[in-house]
Amino acid sequence: MPTLPSDPTRPDSPPGISLRGWLDHLQQSGRLSVIRPGTDLRFEVAAIANRLDSHSASLFLEPGGHAIPVISGLLSDRGWMAEAMGVAPADVLARFQDASLNPIAWREVDDAPCQEVVHREVDLLKQLPIPTHNEHDSGAYITAGLLISRNPRTGVQNVSIHRLQVSSANRLGALLLPRHTLAYFQETESAGEDLEVAVVVGNDPLTLMASQAIVPLDHDELEIAGALHGEPLKVAQCVTNRIRVPAEAEIVIEGRLLANTREQEGPFGEFPQYYGERAERHVIEVDAITHRQAPMFHTIVGGGLEHLLLGGIPREATMLAHLQRSFPSVRDVHLARGGVCRYHLYVQIDKRSEGEGKNVILGALGGHYDIKHVVVVDTDVNIHDPNEVEWAVATRFQADRDLVLVHDSQGSKLDPSTRDGVGSKMGFDATVPLDAPTMRFKRIRVPGEQDVDLAAVSEPAGDDWQQRLAPSR
Ligand code: MN
Repeated sequence: MPTLPSDPTRPDSPPGISLRGWLDHLQQSGRLSVIRPGTDLRFEVAAIANRLDSHSASLFLEPGGHAIPVISGLLSDRGWMAEAMGVAPADVLARFQDASLNPIAWREVDDAPCQEVVHREVDLLKQLPIPTHNEHDSGAYITAGLLISRNPRTGVQNVSIHRLQVSSANRLGALLLPRHTLAYFQETESAGEDLEVAVVVGNDPLTLMASQAIVPLDHDELEIAGALHGEPLKVAQCVTNRIRVPAEAEIVIEGRLLANTREQEGPFGEFPQYYGERAERHVIEVDAITHRQAPMFHTIVGGGLEHLLLGGIPREATMLAHLQRSFPSVRDVHLARGGVCRYHLYVQIDKRSEGEGKNVILGALGGHYDIKHVVVVDTDVNIHDPNEVEWAVATRFQADRDLVLVHDSQGSKLDPSTRDGVGSKMGFDATVPLDAPTMRFKRIRVPGEQDVDLAAVSEPAGDDWQQRLAPSR
């Protein structure tokens, strides 16, 4: 089995600071599976990665005959993300929020591992092991690439993940949602010019998470990555354009988002567990591929846990900060997995004033257009347990007075029940009225239940269990 070159580890840093260090960390705790050479890049890589999802990360050796291995499932569990950041699970949002508010500027270096090999003649499918994931995907997709662009006026960079269809040897079809990459592109396109970009594949877990921060335009997500690292991120300038990329990345695809060019892209299996439709979309022309001497290609299976959580946790941090600015009573938020870590927000508040639950609903719905349904609960409800939230709705909510309904608002274009992204929002105020009699909403509880030492008081029954019954007289 070929060995992968590993970076010198920095023992006092969180394990997520380098990709190879993180894979080492997973391997040492039995959470890295190696898949034998020869896996088919069409469906089989995704099938195996999905089966291992949340149990172990996967490392595919020589997939489809390619020398470059594929990795997947690096962060397919909430607890793993906490580990990567070096904090307790309860502190993930606070740590992420702190990094978003206190970014650390990157440091440029000349000598970048990600540029050890340079291909100026590009053939994407020949040079990279790019999988086809879901049944009706239009073909091979790059799904874990950080797309880095540059504000043509200010030079500030933006980082985001976009699905990238391999359309030909040197062309990628890109879905640009109405956010920062699109804003920069519209600037250059209106001047008739292309937008320089780089697509960076094979990033450390902290940089991956930072790319998903929901911060204002012209806040460079690589600086948030630096804050999560606790030191400036090393970057290097691309060989064909002015974009700066993480120097320790595995693979960089350099190119341009073409002005006045649209081509067919899709369908592609997306996070809501449906296919994003085929349509005329933006196009990247690739100018060069650079990579490490022996790189790894990271793929995220569309709709898998890694896909859901990577978007979900940074959004939770952003939403918690957003709500706490207006509502000091907000204790915690959670984007539930059943709501694809995007559409269903649970909010826990320490309610002090009547009506506060509804204000929080209104604030949450305004916080991000993806949020569709909001449930607000009291501090005695565990928002990380969907059964607890359902219980609160079942027993503390009355539709005639506790429901907030908004029609025809901007929602997620990937939600198939919307009309091209226009849909309804709904909020459930499942908090207890402040003037309710004390016993009415008191949760039942057996004293001492939490403290029982089961091993000390019980054992598995043997087949003599009937003989052990005391004779009654
Ligand atoms: Mn941004």
